[in-house]
Amino acid sequence: MTLALLGLETEELRALLPDGEPAFRARQLYEALYHRRAASFDEMTALAKPLRLDLAQRASFGYPEVATVYQSDDGTERYLLQLADGKTVETVYMPEQGRDTLCISTQVGCPVDCQFCLTAKMGLERNLTAGEIVGQVLYAARENNLWADAKRMNIVMMGQGEPLLNLPNVLKASRILTDPKGVGLSPRRITVSTSGIIPRIAEFAAAPDPQRPKLAISLNASHEEQRRELMPVTRKWHLKELIDACLAYPLRSWEKLTFEYVLLKGVNDTDLDARRVVRLLAKIDCKVNLIALNPGPGILFATPDAERVTAFQEIVRKSLPCFVRRPRGLDIFAACGQLKRMETQRDQPLIPPTFAPPRS
Ligand code: SAH
Ligand code: SF4
Repeated sequence: MTLALLGLETEELRALLPDGEPAFRARQLYEALYHRRAASFDEMTALAKPLRLDLAQRASFGYPEVATVYQSDDGTERYLLQLADGKTVETVYMPEQGRDTLCISTQVGCPVDCQFCLTAKMGLERNLTAGEIVGQVLYAARENNLWADAKRMNIVMMGQGEPLLNLPNVLKASRILTDPKGVGLSPRRITVSTSGIIPRIAEFAAAPDPQRPKLAISLNASHEEQRRELMPVTRKWHLKELIDACLAYPLRSWEKLTFEYVLLKGVNDTDLDARRVVRLLAKIDCKVNLIALNPGPGILFATPDAERVTAFQEIVRKSLPCFVRRPRGLDIFAACGQLKRMETQRDQPLIPPTFAPPRS
């Protein structure tokens, strides 16, 4: 395997250059890679030809290879991308009016065993490198001609994986994504979502301001016992401490925490649950995103009716900003919690899941 350049920062690139090259060469290489998204060494015209040839012999860019593209009727695309070791990971492109969102993965699979999530069924295969995280963005941005300067591009780290269990690589990728000489995205346009790995929340918070993305917390339950059943991660990281960590989180003046809440029919979607959520979050400067369950084979929960979702939202909205997230790419298994390398075809309807009776 040749050395991959994606994921390297200026100092690391500098170490690759032959002795005698001036320091600014590394900066030129960095900009060509991340800011201008050169497609080949030949395009890096700021570098002299002998240097380009030398680099081409020793290194590759390290872009992922596309294995399959799934296209949804709603414009969403799901990419199954192949990494250097043959493993595959998923990235989702969601075009909307006025904004484009890329949902990227941070691990292959996920070690957190949320009962409603298809990715959980893969278990953890491995962490992604910073280059593989950035590579997903560059691949999808290049395919769809997205540029940070157009101020339409948003990134959510909500694909496969628990970002805070791969924090060093997530932070390194965030530095490259937010660096004006790198990909150049504002940290306001990047969101990292966590199931609540409490000690890592403070570590994430310590990242320097201009490089620190926004944080979203997957709450998904209105009390400890319910959360423990739905998200076994809570056995170790308790709800009360999670709320304390959120209270201590150093929000910037422009920022609110986001809480995500997957609504499961008859399990966590009652009026009482909504009131408990309000009480839990009362002191936190936050907003709540509701997601009605996206179904999948082997997921033993049902999606609540639209009226129930609205009733829940109405209660929360009296106290906190509360939005219902529209699912994207349901027909191609691209929506939240559906990323498990599912094979779908355009003419093939979503496999109907088998629902268990709602748990009380
Ligand atoms: N591991 C991180 C980020 C990836 S999951 C986390 O859990 O936050 C991204 C979001 O999808 C989470 O908010 C999660 O609660 C939600 N989710 C998982 N499975 C889902 C499903 N079947 N339907 C709807 N949302 C789901
Ligand atoms: Fe992992 Fe997030 Fe899915 Fe939970 S919801 S299993 S943390 S990807």
